[in-house]
Amino acid sequence: MIQRNKISFAICALAICNTLSSNAQSILPPVIDWHGKSEALIAKPNNPWITAAEKSDFVSTPDYNTTMSWLKKLSAASPLLTMISIGKSVEGRDIFMVIASTEKNITSAALKHSGKPLLLVQAGIHSGEIDGKDAGMMLLRDIAFGNKKDLIKNVNFLFIPILSVDAHERSSPYNRPNQRGPQNMGWRTNAQNLNLNRDYAKLDTKEIRAVIKVINGYDPVLYMDIHVTDGADYQYDITFGGLGLQGNSPGIARWLEEIYKPSADKDLKANGHIPGQLLFALNDRDFSQGNILIAGGPRFSDSYGNLRHMASVLVENHSLKPFKQRVLGTYVLLESTLQLLAREGQSLKAITKADRAIRDAKVPMAWKVPQMENAVNFERLADIQQSANPAIAPDSMVFAGIASRLVKSSVTNADYIEWLGKPVTEKIVNYKGTEPIDFITRPKGYWIPASCEEVIERLKLHGIKMDIITQPREVVVEMYRIENAKLEDENHKAQPYEGHIQVSGTTKSETRKQLFPASSVYISTDQPLGDLAMMLLEPTSKDSYFSWGFFHSIFQRTEYMEAYVMEPMAKKMLEDSPALQKEFEEKKAQDKVFADDPNAILTWFYSKTKYYDERYLLYPVGREL
Ligand SMILES: [Zn+2]
Repeated sequence: MIQRNKISFAICALAICNTLSSNAQSILPPVIDWHGKSEALIAKPNNPWITAAEKSDFVSTPDYNTTMSWLKKLSAASPLLTMISIGKSVEGRDIFMVIASTEKNITSAALKHSGKPLLLVQAGIHSGEIDGKDAGMMLLRDIAFGNKKDLIKNVNFLFIPILSVDAHERSSPYNRPNQRGPQNMGWRTNAQNLNLNRDYAKLDTKEIRAVIKVINGYDPVLYMDIHVTDGADYQYDITFGGLGLQGNSPGIARWLEEIYKPSADKDLKANGHIPGQLLFALNDRDFSQGNILIAGGPRFSDSYGNLRHMASVLVENHSLKPFKQRVLGTYVLLESTLQLLAREGQSLKAITKADRAIRDAKVPMAWKVPQMENAVNFERLADIQQSANPAIAPDSMVFAGIASRLVKSSVTNADYIEWLGKPVTEKIVNYKGTEPIDFITRPKGYWIPASCEEVIERLKLHGIKMDIITQPREVVVEMYRIENAKLEDENHKAQPYEGHIQVSGTTKSETRKQLFPASSVYISTDQPLGDLAMMLLEPTSKDSYFSWGFFHSIFQRTEYMEAYVMEPMAKKMLEDSPALQKEFEEKKAQDKVFADDPNAILTWFYSKTKYYDERYLLYPVGREL
């Protein structure tokens, strides 16, 4: 009886909750009716390999167990498909990958040896943005048992159906209120509440570590990461691209712009889709002030790929288009990509090889564009809009938009956008940050002391080649003393970000003869991942291990002198040096706080003795010039 009462209370509470938060799906902006040739890709109801999403008429998407047991069955039934685990999540789920290949031997070495271009596609890095999984399942079915076998005749295809496997099971109809289906969506961050698409540089998560292992093992010629947008309304259903003219792989960037994009656009259009470039509203609301293309740094999959000279395509399907339309568009894009790689894969390989041979004498640590992740910093965007800086080069584009109007809110009293569902074509400003900034001179290599175990381990995981010394070695290196350190994130907020307290500061160089103990490592920058090594090891890089907080221990001074030692010593130092006496008097005159702080005064004298901790604020990585 008591239990029944409890249950009815729970149901009642749930009912109230549902009434209070009305269904977001019914509030979304109007949808434009869509039909396209790609609808013919949907399996007939009597097809024994119909996918769960097709069966539901794209109302829902299958859970992890259903997805994996279906793919296991499919792989077992086809000699063209093999399913392997590439790692386990923190909650113990296997992260599976399907290898589609006509090769008999499908080890990474054998596939590399085959000489065929290899495409790596991952879905569900943000597990609620799951279109890639359902599209990939359909495509693999058609490769195995339909009429698409030829797609892998000259290309090897690796497909990760769900990357963020734990978050995929944190499924709910309430997870992505701005997205039009499926009815059950996974969570954005993994079980540790970390965003996998901010983890490519630091490598905290098992999921991204698993992907990097695949990248290092199979060396894909093209890497695709499939998402669904949030934000503004427009006509495009499938938006995708590389970094444009930003980034460290000029040949690859041109190939993506000039070869890949036109080819994929053509195929998407021929199948009834509306392809577009990656779109990010400058004002984070609508496109009245233009679009801006962002290079976010190697914490993101596309920037990371670019930095290691691997063609990388970010796909952002439009969240306000129906799930069916998005999945079918993704299928077309995948098929188009495989077809293009069969034709142009070798040319991309050659271009990739050339980009990997570049050793610029100076490497930019950033590109001049505002940070726009999470909450947009309107102040900085306003600066950009008003700036006459040619770095933020405006260009214009013909934009297939959706009409909107500003509505006065009765809740906040501010204006908000209402999307009206009517297509409009307009010319808008298209900002591109193409100016590299914060250049660092390329050293011959980096010396990392054995004490930085965790950083060395992560550099190894990236596939960066290193020499480990077995005997201590004294080396003349340039080292940085960190000044003006601030423990805050890039938006100047002193709060944790992705589980880290970030730090920034300025660097002052010192030339030192430094002893590196046995087990220290040397990393030459004369390697294809040399630029990546620089981005991870230069403290001024926003994605360096320094910035992510892996070197916080240098901010602590651990040895000290007692006053009964320091007082007489300071007195003697003043007697011995009139210059020091003068400097001391001037400092006191200029700095009242210092003059009134006996501790600060003694520390000042201490810092001028040989007893002072000379490693205080010293970034322990050495640059060999
Ligand atoms: Zn995403």
